[in-house]
Amino acid sequence: MESSFYNKNIIYFFAALFLFGCEMKRVSGDPSLSSSTNNDNNGSGVNNTELPAGFSNFISEYTDVYISGDYVVVESTGVPNHPSPYWGEGHSNYITPHSGMVVNPNKISQQNYKFYIPLIPSVSSSVSSTPLGPIGVSISGVPFFNQYAGPNNQPLDNEIASFDNYDGHPQQSGQYHYHWEPKYLTSNGASSMLIGYSLDGFPVYGPTEQATGQFPSDLDELNGHSHATNEYNDGTYHYHATTNSPYLIGGFKGNYGSLNGGGYFTN
Ligand SMILES: [Zn+2]
Ligand SMILES: [Zn+2]
Repeated sequence: MESSFYNKNIIYFFAALFLFGCEMKRVSGDPSLSSSTNNDNNGSGVNNTELPAGFSNFISEYTDVYISGDYVVVESTGVPNHPSPYWGEGHSNYITPHSGMVVNPNKISQQNYKFYIPLIPSVSSSVSSTPLGPIGVSISGVPFFNQYAGPNNQPLDNEIASFDNYDGHPQQSGQYHYHWEPKYLTSNGASSMLIGYSLDGFPVYGPTEQATGQFPSDLDELNGHSHATNEYNDGTYHYHATTNSPYLIGGFKGNYGSLNGGGYFTN
């Protein structure tokens, strides 16, 4: 009995010494741990080396998604994963225009996009209006454009007839894009699915809610609101696709990232 009691205490002693030693080393060995920045995964539950769950929705055949510093980088060529008249006759994905479609003179061409999306999105002190050109990216790598056809907030009205069967079209330099719900994705997935990300890091969902299947009734003027989703159990601000303007992202709620290979000049 006595020797067993003694052995146990020896074990406790060395265990305590080991833990204490580790603690001392951790605190004294890394000055950043005692600095005031205090941003090393505390409380948020976010592991900065792992992609947020929503990014697993990106289709790997068309996109490369990885972390670089404080950003998630989404690389894509920006071409659609579906047929369109804009592939041009002779292309394997070419289809004839649907009835009533007014085909614009542009053709789909491969781009070299790198979207730099904040890894941890943060609400900005003021909303930023979106520029022309790509403002976010769908899970197939096709960019989202805003609700305008060109400078000075020209409405889309005159462009809508040029949308193809899946409601996308290319602009002058061949950038294919969606101004609203990417119907090919939602018709093959679900109306409530995560369809992509805004350049400010907040996710974009289809027109209905995952939990209820209903259309949201409390969207703000940017098409957004906050609640928990399948991908964000703790809740997040997010945008929804709507049938009325602004259709996808009415402005950046958050501090936005940047884009290489795009250009903010045309729609
Ligand atoms: Zn919602
Ligand atoms: Zn357009």
